[in-house]
Amino acid sequence: MIKKGIILIIVFTPFFAKTQNIDYAKTIIDTLTTPYFGGRGAVDLGEKKAADFLKNEFKRNHLKSFNDTFFQSFRYNINTFPGKVSVSIDGQKLTAGVDYLVEPHSGAVGGTFQLVWYNKKNVPNKKEFKKLVTLNFFADKFIVIDDEGVDKNDETFQLLKLNVFGAAGVINLENKKLTHHLSQTYNDFGVLRVLRDKISRKNRSITLEIDQKFERNFRSQNVIGYVKGVEHPDSFIVVSAHYDHLGRMGKDVYFPGANDNASGVAMMLNLAYHYTHKELPKKTIVFMLFGAEEVGILGSKHYVKNPLFPLEQINFVMNLDLLGTGDDGAMVVNAAIFPEQFKVLDSLNTYSNYLPIIKKRGKAANSDHYWFTEKGIPSFFLYTLGGISAYHDVEDVAKTLPLTKFEDCFRLLRDFLDEL
Ligand SMILES: [Zn+2]
Repeated sequence: MIKKGIILIIVFTPFFAKTQNIDYAKTIIDTLTTPYFGGRGAVDLGEKKAADFLKNEFKRNHLKSFNDTFFQSFRYNINTFPGKVSVSIDGQKLTAGVDYLVEPHSGAVGGTFQLVWYNKKNVPNKKEFKKLVTLNFFADKFIVIDDEGVDKNDETFQLLKLNVFGAAGVINLENKKLTHHLSQTYNDFGVLRVLRDKISRKNRSITLEIDQKFERNFRSQNVIGYVKGVEHPDSFIVVSAHYDHLGRMGKDVYFPGANDNASGVAMMLNLAYHYTHKELPKKTIVFMLFGAEEVGILGSKHYVKNPLFPLEQINFVMNLDLLGTGDDGAMVVNAAIFPEQFKVLDSLNTYSNYLPIIKKRGKAANSDHYWFTEKGIPSFFLYTLGGISAYHDVEDVAKTLPLTKFEDCFRLLRDFLDEL
């Protein structure tokens, strides 16, 4: 029996060592995208549940906490859709997330309303609009805004979108794909985005129920842990990733956010495991999981205003967001601003043949690295390219996330962090 066991260990150890990273990553991504976490947003405390789960992963990986709780709390306002969300056009039910989205700044609305279709050919002029408003024409209407071929700055269409004429709601048409966002404000009317082929000028009415709730001072939290450097403990490297996503749209639909950003979280946890179990780092590495990124990079904004150690002690920030593909290489935001560090990263990649290409970008306020950059701290935001087109939609699921270059990306990041 014992002999057999030894043989098994010899045979399986190299295999296990090779696939360990990806297996751990897959478990994390699968877990974070389950309905229990509800898209890691405000509704049903999805984001908080994810924070609790990740705090335990930090503990399991033997990371230390600056304050015993691993949490740094902050508050923000957020518009949510926690209850009923249903839409039918002429009695034909549409599927939320697939056929339409409730726009993030929509208010609550319920009932049956007539549809009025305005395009560049039939849109009334100002005088006619005035007349219609005095007749209270729009009170029981939903305006469909068909702005195909209309100039972006067209005043009338801008007024239609702002619904200054007082309709019960407006419908924006989507030609390409439905891409969801979050909003910190809301309107007193309904706003939908409907795929163009799901509604036509022949349609007469819309029946809908949108349950909306504006959460004031909603509590979020960053999850922060670290592993102490063995040579330069007072020198800090930050690895960051946001763990929140877009949450729910009604009871039935949530945004799983496998690529955005369960993948970055999984990468971070792999790095944390590596630096606590395999190779202690020379400098102290701080792992920062930010909340409320999708609302407007709020967790990192709060952190930079309330740092847990002096910001001047940070050597570098490596922000990870969208790490689930890599078929077409990766992009580095801030590469043009920090060319020396980029040269190091690029040479390591070329030397070991990890990713097909690493592309460069300048500054961009598109993820959590941004506030650190604004404080003059060298930082990169690395995201992988190619593979899937799912982004900020219900299709961003674990099952179809290719993780093509996940392991190579891990090795590249490890090599780079070791060089800093
Ligand atoms: Zn993201």
